[in-house]
Amino acid sequence: MDERGSYFNEGIGKDGPFDRLREECGVFGVFGYADAASLTYYGLHTLQHRGEESSGICTSDGRAFSYHRGMGLVKEVFDKDRLDSLIGDRAIGHVRYSTSGDSRLTNAQPLVFKTRDGDLSVATNGNIVNAPAIRRELEQKGSIFQTTSDTEVIAHLIARSEADVVTAAKEALRQLVGGFAFLIMTNDRLLVASDPHGLRPLAMGRIGDAYIFSSESCALDAVGAEFIRAIEPGELLVFDEMGCRSERFAPIERRALCAMEFIYFARPDSQMHDMNLHTARKRMGKQLAQESYVEADIVSGVPDSSISAAIGYAEATGIPYEMGMIKSKYSGRTFIQPSQELREQGVKMKLSAVRSVVEGKRVVLIDDSIVRGTTSRRIVKMLRDAGATEVHLRIASPPFKHPCFYGIDTPDSNDLIASSHSVEEICSLVGADSLAFLSHEGTVEAIGGAFAKEKNGGLCMACFDRDYPTELAAEAKTLGCGC
Ligand code: SF4
Repeated sequence: MDERGSYFNEGIGKDGPFDRLREECGVFGVFGYADAASLTYYGLHTLQHRGEESSGICTSDGRAFSYHRGMGLVKEVFDKDRLDSLIGDRAIGHVRYSTSGDSRLTNAQPLVFKTRDGDLSVATNGNIVNAPAIRRELEQKGSIFQTTSDTEVIAHLIARSEADVVTAAKEALRQLVGGFAFLIMTNDRLLVASDPHGLRPLAMGRIGDAYIFSSESCALDAVGAEFIRAIEPGELLVFDEMGCRSERFAPIERRALCAMEFIYFARPDSQMHDMNLHTARKRMGKQLAQESYVEADIVSGVPDSSISAAIGYAEATGIPYEMGMIKSKYSGRTFIQPSQELREQGVKMKLSAVRSVVEGKRVVLIDDSIVRGTTSRRIVKMLRDAGATEVHLRIASPPFKHPCFYGIDTPDSNDLIASSHSVEEICSLVGADSLAFLSHEGTVEAIGGAFAKEKNGGLCMACFDRDYPTELAAEAKTLGCGC
């Protein structure tokens, strides 16, 4: 990964300023809207938090594709002329992080292929854990891969099939193991699919007669689409001149939507499992307050993802919520990173404590998760340096102990502080006066309501409990995110 890329993303490297998990990717699709490219542009812009390394849009007018992909933010990759050149009433788009250290333009999506039956374009969010094995098999049969992205596997499986594209897509999807949300476009069709566990989110909306698809419902709102429903696990939706039909390529296995979407990744104005994410996070904060109350003067949340949980904690305890920390809106993209010396002098690129708020106060600080622990240590020190007399850290999720194989960039287990340290040890390492995590049961209780009768409330909790919903290929981890 280049220098630029590594600094743009908080999660990279032990020496980076923070140690957050990195979001995976975002997909957005349109079928039947006159200016599909512009709508996709605005949709991707809203999903930018899910991937900042590359962006791409492929459109179709029913006969031919137009497409453009580039490295960088949506607003950097596309201008008006570029969008005007993307013709058609259907489109698929993608924003991407690479997690395998390979951020080349060739891996930017949507991937586009020429097949004997016409053009084929694919955009995905997630990771196919058995992609290396399928790829090896296909290469032995003569397939030549253009990218290192495992998304290409499905294009080869579809292209090699003798069957029509819908049957071929179903057969291909059945071979894949992992967490994935796919948008697959041919010249005249759009196919939309979610893995049999529904690990990765995918929402469907409508504007008039046009259908819109998005990793998160917030992008449907942004383009004025009405939310209809989430794509069901194992479902394949087919859109063509005949209309729309829902088919199934696999039965719903154990429903297991990624819990980290609720905890951290998705925007608070999105909706998943029939629950608004801000509300879900407030519920987690309230639950946390019930489980680990501590006397304090103020409650603060680490911006932005922990603010909802902090409000919930404050409401449940009666301790006032205060803005004890500020996140710079403009720190995400700079070309130079402060040297270690400058950092030690207190040059803070991203987060700052608000001295006038925290000075002389006992602070309950709510964060969504602890990954390596380096961020928590810096934040606790920041608050103490700003005059906080006590810092009690409360984490609105269980200890993050195990890596993800479904498209989230996580460090090796060795670097996950909770995998090898007790809560007391972590508390001492991050320098807090006290530390508590939300329990596994409390997390499920707070956010698993829509599917309360299903295991873990229909959530994947594998990074907390190691109960992975799919089989895992031995080499899955080496591939990283497949988007
Ligand atoms: S392992 Fe964790 S991050 Fe990965 S899909 Fe499951 S809940 Fe989400």
